[in-house]
Amino acid sequence: MRLIIMGPPGAGKGTQAKFIAEHFGIPAISTGDIFRANVSQGTPLGVEAKRYMDAGEYVPDEVTNRMVRNRIDEPDATTGFLLDGYPRTLAQVEELDGMIAFTGHRLDAVVCLTVDQDEIVQRLLQRAQVEGRADDTEDVIRRRQELYVEQTAPLIEVYGGRGIVHQIDGMGAVEDVTKRIFEALDVVPES
Ligand code: AMP
Repeated sequence: MRLIIMGPPGAGKGTQAKFIAEHFGIPAISTGDIFRANVSQGTPLGVEAKRYMDAGEYVPDEVTNRMVRNRIDEPDATTGFLLDGYPRTLAQVEELDGMIAFTGHRLDAVVCLTVDQDEIVQRLLQRAQVEGRADDTEDVIRRRQELYVEQTAPLIEVYGGRGIVHQIDGMGAVEDVTKRIFEALDVVPES
């Protein structure tokens, strides 16, 4: 099973990704988490990514693509994976297509969480207080939303054209959203 979870920053992708990945017995691969781990370990990748992350900008495609390629080459991802936060640009879609085609598999589904933009910003401001993430200041939050609308939302149409997008209402209780996702995915045959 090869899946993507999409939605604007703060839509609850990470939370839902864990449930979905656990259900299918595949790793949830979050590019944001991998970048943050590298930042906290002070690796060269972390040093490079931090400049962009702190400003709410996207890390360059070349850097991000290489990182994802390495991650999905790991043994735990051979039977499948759930990508959270990737792809975010059209160039990343193309790169991912190539990576998946190379293994002779296909992308099974894209789960797209739809949410109320204003409520999201409130959620993120709250999370900023609790977790103190460097990229959760108000300006950065707004920039991240802007980039999502400009660069990432168009990907929904690209995948929609392939007939693999499941638009899921991401508002409400976490368990209700999970239930909606599972109901939608059950109609997708497992490979
Ligand atoms: P996230 O936790 O998914 O919101 O990601 C946090 C930050 O990591 C983003 O604001 C970007 O700076 C960077 N990032 C994560 N995934 C990507 C990606 N696919 N392409 C470019 N930058 C990314």
